[in-house]
Amino acid sequence: MVICPYCQKEIAGELDTCPHCGVTMIYFYQCHRCHQEIAATGILKFCPLCDANFSDQMN
Ligand SMILES: [Zn+2]
Ligand SMILES: [Zn+2]
Repeated sequence: MVICPYCQKEIAGELDTCPHCGVTMIYFYQCHRCHQEIAATGILKFCPLCDANFSDQMN
């Protein structure tokens, strides 16, 4: 279960778009290398700050 960062409601399953407010889901990551929190409108494969690979910390 994911909480929509815009309307604060729960989004079930693997939906890309919030059914409550219609915004495209924002994904939040914390980089394991530089420890910065990063928000993105889609799947990030690499940290934009330090280029660390995020694929090994998904799920
Ligand atoms: Zn929403
Ligand atoms: Zn980083």
